[in-house]
Amino acid sequence: MIELKSKREIEIMAEAGLVMKQVFASIEPMVKPGVTTRELDEAAEKIIRGAGAKPAFKGYRNFPATACISVNEQVVHGIPGPRILKKGDILSFDCGVLLQGYNVDAARSWAVGTVSEVHAKLIRTARDSFLAGLDAYKPGSRIGDLSSAIQQCIESAGFQVVRDFVGHGIGKQIHEDPQVPNYGKPGRGARIECGLCLAIEPMVTEGHYAVEMLEDGWTVVTQDKKMASHYEDTIVFTEQGVVNLTCD
Ligand code: MG
Ligand code: MG
Repeated sequence: MIELKSKREIEIMAEAGLVMKQVFASIEPMVKPGVTTRELDEAAEKIIRGAGAKPAFKGYRNFPATACISVNEQVVHGIPGPRILKKGDILSFDCGVLLQGYNVDAARSWAVGTVSEVHAKLIRTARDSFLAGLDAYKPGSRIGDLSSAIQQCIESAGFQVVRDFVGHGIGKQIHEDPQVPNYGKPGRGARIECGLCLAIEPMVTEGHYAVEMLEDGWTVVTQDKKMASHYEDTIVFTEQGVVNLTCD
């Protein structure tokens, strides 16, 4: 069941979004060769708690950290740890903030030092496809209109779209209805109404989109071990159009 949010609920989520923006602004400059994924995670937790909020992922289905940090062929849900980042890595940082009972969820992929041209494009395409999805929205649109635009953007850039993980509604729960696939056909799926909050999160692969899970039960990697990127923001549809709660 899709739960539309009231103005008051959206205001709280926007405040949580401010904390998320602070996290990204602080973590991005730390993403350099030599830093460990654990250091990034600890810094994020400090910022979130310092703002009076909670890391939404910590303890969610027993996830042990504040952020999901995934490197290179890791697509999503990587566990922060002693891994040291090196030049040429792609770092995907996915984080949730819980404030006054409401969640926001957002992710960024960043280059560690300089990366190859194709990997820079892979990173860029995750964000571009997210924006293409938003661009496809007009009053009366359905979820499939956005999904299709996201897929088209990714595939026309020469990359592929992960099928096994999708975007989602968000609010009191991190994952609410509806699901928001990053592939699909226009005109399909639920109609988008004002007050709908979504976490839209394209996952883009350099090679084939097939993924598998590592033995830790969390980390999702590409089967062909080629690189992946991820971009996510929490957005809300209003009478005035789409408002992004986790990015200016
Ligand atoms: Mg996320
Ligand atoms: Mg999400």
